[in-house]
Order: sequence, then C-alpha cells, then structure tokens
Amino acid sequence: MTTYAPHPLYFDQGKRARVRDLDGRWYQDMLANYGALAHGHAHPALTRAVNDQISLGTALGGPSILQYQHAELLQAHVPALERVRYCNSGTEATMWALRTARAYTGRDIIVKIDGGYHGTHDWGHVSAFLSGGTPHRQFLPGLPPTHLAPGVPKTVLESVVTVPFNDAQAVADVLAQLQGRVAAVIVEPVLGVGGGVPARPGYLEQVRSLTADDAVVLIFDECATFRLGTWQVRHGVRPDLSTFSKIVGGGLPIGVFGGHTDIMSLFDPARPQPIYHASAFGGNSLSLAAGIAALETFQETEIAHLDRLGARLREGLDSAARDAGIVGSAVGEGGLSYFHFAATPPQNAADTVAAREGRDELRGLVHLNLLNEGFLTARHGLMCQHIVTTNTAVDSFVAAFADTLTLLRPYLADYHPDLLADQPARETAVPKPSIDGSGQ
Ligand code: PMP
Repeated sequence: MTTYAPHPLYFDQGKRARVRDLDGRWYQDMLANYGALAHGHAHPALTRAVNDQISLGTALGGPSILQYQHAELLQAHVPALERVRYCNSGTEATMWALRTARAYTGRDIIVKIDGGYHGTHDWGHVSAFLSGGTPHRQFLPGLPPTHLAPGVPKTVLESVVTVPFNDAQAVADVLAQLQGRVAAVIVEPVLGVGGGVPARPGYLEQVRSLTADDAVVLIFDECATFRLGTWQVRHGVRPDLSTFSKIVGGGLPIGVFGGHTDIMSLFDPARPQPIYHASAFGGNSLSLAAGIAALETFQETEIAHLDRLGARLREGLDSAARDAGIVGSAVGEGGLSYFHFAATPPQNAADTVAAREGRDELRGLVHLNLLNEGFLTARHGLMCQHIVTTNTAVDSFVAAFADTLTLLRPYLADYHPDLLADQPARETAVPKPSIDGSGQ
C-alpha cells in the first residue's frame, strides 16, 4: 500500500536519486520504490537498454537469448542458481518456488516466518506483515496464533505453519513434529516489511541444517536482499531454491525463481508429467533487457557503496536519536534500513508490532515532516538508497531526521514520555486525540 493520511503524494518523474511530485517539488528519494530499485531513476544504461529493445519487440512468443544472458549474469552473482525460470513479480516467484518444493517433495506443508512477506498469493498472506487479518489457531499445538488476510481461505491454514523469525528452535520443533510432511521452509534473510530485522548470526545456518536433515526444501526469498548482493552469498549459506524480483528487472516487472538442478528439472518438458509453468509475459524481452543492464551495473563496487550508505545512515540516525534524547534505533543490513522507536531493536515481527503499538501517529508525523523537509521515505520506516545516492544526501537526510526529532520532543513529552531518554516516564501519557489514518 502506498497510501497515507492526509493523502499520498503523486509523482510525475524521477531523475537519479530524486523524484518530483505533481506540484513540481523535488524530493531526495530515500525509498527507492520500497527497495525495488537501486540504480536511481532514468539510469542512462537502463533507459538505453529499454529504448533499444522496445523497437525490436517485447514478447515474441518463444524463448529468447536475453533469458540466457540474464540468467548467466544472475548466476555469476548467485552460484546456487543452477537453473532459473522467469515470471513477472516477487509474488509469482515465491508462489512458484513453493509449488516447486511441493512437487519435488510430494509434501504439502509450508513453514513460513511470522511477519514474513512473500507477496500477495494465498500461501504468502498468512501472518504477512501489514496484510492484517484475523488471528487463527494453528493446527499444530503450542504455536502462537497466526493471521489470515481477508479473502484468504481458511483451508490454507491446513498446510501453512508460521514460526517466529530468528528462532531456530521453533523450526526444529515444528520439523520434529511434522517429520516427513514439510515441503519447504521459506524465509526472508532480513525480515523486510516485518521491521528490517537481520537474521541473527547462526540462525539461518541452523535452519539450513535442520531442513537438510528432513529433506525439506529451504527457500530464501531474496527479492529484497538482492541489494546486499544477496544474503546467501554474503553469509555463505546455500538454500535449495531462491527467489528474486525488483532490482534484477532494472525497473520493470520481473520475477525469478531457481536453484538446484535436480529440483528445477521437474520443469523439463522432456520428462513425463513436467510441472506446467506458463506466463504470457514471463521472461519478456523488455524486462530482461532492462534487467541485464541492471545486473551489469550492479557489481561489487555498487553493492559496497550501498553498504556504506546504509551503515552511514544507521549510524547517523542512531546519533540523531541520542543527541535528541529520544529512545530509538536504526536496524537493517546493507542498503536496507528501518528506524524503530523502541528501547531494544526488534528480533522478530512480534517485537516490531510491540515497538509500533500506539505509535502510528508518531510514525506518521515523522514521515510527513521528512516530506516537508524534502525527503521521501516509507511511513512504516523503510529507507533504501540508490547507487547514485551520495554521502552528502545521506548526511542531509540525517540532519532532517534530527530536526524532526527535535520538533517532536514536545509532542513526545505529552503523548510518549517513555520515548524521552532523559526524562523519567510519567505515570500516564496525555490521552491522544485521534487525528491519524496511518495507511502503511
Ligand atoms: N518477497 C519479498 C521479500 C518482497 O519484499 C516482496 C515485495 N515487497 C515480494 C516478495 C513481492 O514482490 P512483488 O511486489 O513483485 O509481487
């Protein structure tokens, strides 16, 4: 959702790391389309690739050499991608990875992370952060309730189990209870919309070995973490399947899933009863041309630049909060960051929910003031940079954030005294007038 109160800004163009609204006002883009972009807007190499390709046709009704070129570049980034297939979005990529795992194992049950976001298909919209929904008892006893988004059939809960992020013991317990019945564990290596929570050291290594022990397919959803150069490469943990979208499409819709040859060979049309994967525009030439240009211009130097910008941003925000005497900290990894008003950084989605409880209005005020100061972020706190974002832009953003916190001190004193580090918390905060419609 891109809406927020009092009304969302509408944009008409973007150039490098800035976007312009319909009133002609430019903003420093600290959101990068919710992390889906990394090259800035209208990057010359990407624009050229799209312009060149569009005059040659976009979908010619058969395989194209661009698919192989893109796949080779992707494989050079991510060695675990022995075979890949193309679709149109992260939603499709994770849906297909899950179906592939089910076909491969002959098992039905999926284990996903509470608050993990994998797009909008039914299996992904169980306890997905921001998808809302009502609490439901899980079919396995002893697990916290899960949430079903409106419109997702209850029958989905017969084959999806959710466990807290960063808790390998929970995965071990579920796999032990469901031995031989789980098709896949799917996980975002950095819990994205669930609060930008990085995996604890050792967590995903443990999940890797637990899944291997019961022949469960481990899926890393790296749709958001490709901006780290992928989590799996950075941390040396090899999943069975991985999913990608966003940056690898160079600003156009794309989804990619792939991994082990023996799993992906289920799609081989020469075998009896292959998995039938069709998609009118999956692997279309325009997205691939843009994606090839994006991959060619997103190498170690660019990833390292994003890492440095992210680290500089988080350090800056932490010291802005400290200097303003406000409780809160920045979390994230590489060029993917969040700010939480909380005494301790969240370790899972439940912590993120607790950190946000009753603070929608505060987050809304921060977001709106940053817009007033000329910076685009997400209301839920996500901040992502482009490879063309400069240190100076990050420093200006940190200064605007510091100004925002200072401006908000009287409001915090009235409504959230617990967030003022230098003031003893009052017994009760002033009752809050309801002026928010927080949107996302
Ligand atoms: N997985 C992750 C980790 C994502 O961050 C997203 C997009 N926010 C998706 C899947 C879904 O991608 P799309 O919006 O392209 O369907």
